[in-house]
Amino acid sequence: MSDSKILNDKMNRSSRLEYRQVGQTDLQISAIGFGASPLGNAFGPIDAEEGTRAVHLAIDEGINFFDVSPYYGLTLAEERLGQALLGKRDRVVLTTKCGRYGVEQFDFSASRIRLSIEESLRRLRTDYIDLWLAHDVEFGHAEQIVNETIPAMRSLQRQGKVRYVGISGYPLKVLMHIAEKAPVDCILSYCHYNLLIDDMDTVLMPFAEKLAIGVINASPLHMGMLTEREAPEWHPAPLKVRLAVKEAQSFCRMRGVDLAEIALQFCLDYPRVTTTLVGMASPEEVGRNLRAYRNSPDRDLMRQIKTILAPVSNMQWPSGTLENCD
Ligand code: NAD
Repeated sequence: MSDSKILNDKMNRSSRLEYRQVGQTDLQISAIGFGASPLGNAFGPIDAEEGTRAVHLAIDEGINFFDVSPYYGLTLAEERLGQALLGKRDRVVLTTKCGRYGVEQFDFSASRIRLSIEESLRRLRTDYIDLWLAHDVEFGHAEQIVNETIPAMRSLQRQGKVRYVGISGYPLKVLMHIAEKAPVDCILSYCHYNLLIDDMDTVLMPFAEKLAIGVINASPLHMGMLTEREAPEWHPAPLKVRLAVKEAQSFCRMRGVDLAEIALQFCLDYPRVTTTLVGMASPEEVGRNLRAYRNSPDRDLMRQIKTILAPVSNMQWPSGTLENCD
């Protein structure tokens, strides 16, 4: 099937994507963002050609926000995204990260940060990054992130290598603690607002709104869990959550509906965040996710799925050093 045909289904919502300003920056990004971790095989090997076509289709359909990291596929995702963006760089708002380089490889020192930007620029075949995030800050020491990492990132911002600076991570408290001490332009939070969890709404958003910091809501499918597929083996969610999701999958199968579509619509319905960042690896997924945006959600079905998942609602897992866990 051709990539344009993938999008030919009947759509109810306006076919134009909405764009929102990231905090106080001049970045305007699409309400759906393209998460590029799958391009680094984070969820299993992908067809690189399909990955490139996914990027191109997303851009042609108006998705302008792309997020990657040197960590994804140990630089593979940056390489693949850089290749796919050749000739199209000026049509996207590009985010990459620094400080995390492997499952257990972290280095938030100023010297590594300075080296990191040069490596990312080379792999992404560009001479500037729009939004640069310290990656998974809960694995570092908050004091170092505040006094060394973010100042080093700001210095590279002054040199024009990056336009804006932010942080990403899982526990909410440490993100807020750091942002309070060292002003940032944006916070990327993942697995804190979707069909399984919603504490971003009560914990992070009031803080971010008070300081006018842009918030990216990543992993609307709870890192691939809220789909028809089995969650990846490395997924940190407790077994109870996996079992409840299986029940929701069976329910959706019986009703002939797509759990991923409803899960994504749940997040897209949340206006407080700047964008919903979903990982995509093929034109088919791009098409399905744009349809999810354009179709009106079935709120009754959404409520029923929420009820199935209610017993495991807001269950979390530890991430980072002991001092930084929520
Ligand atoms: P996600 O919840 O977006 O799920 C992605 C998975 O779902 C992938 O396997 C993808 O191929 C699949 N998928 C996408 N659309 C689908 C559809 N319609 N039907 C079925 N399957 C579908 O999880 P994610 O990729 O981890 O999160 C999104 C992005 O956010 C990442 O790619 C990354 O860019 C970013 N992120 C950043 C951090 C961080 O900075 N610490 C953490 C998590 C995610």
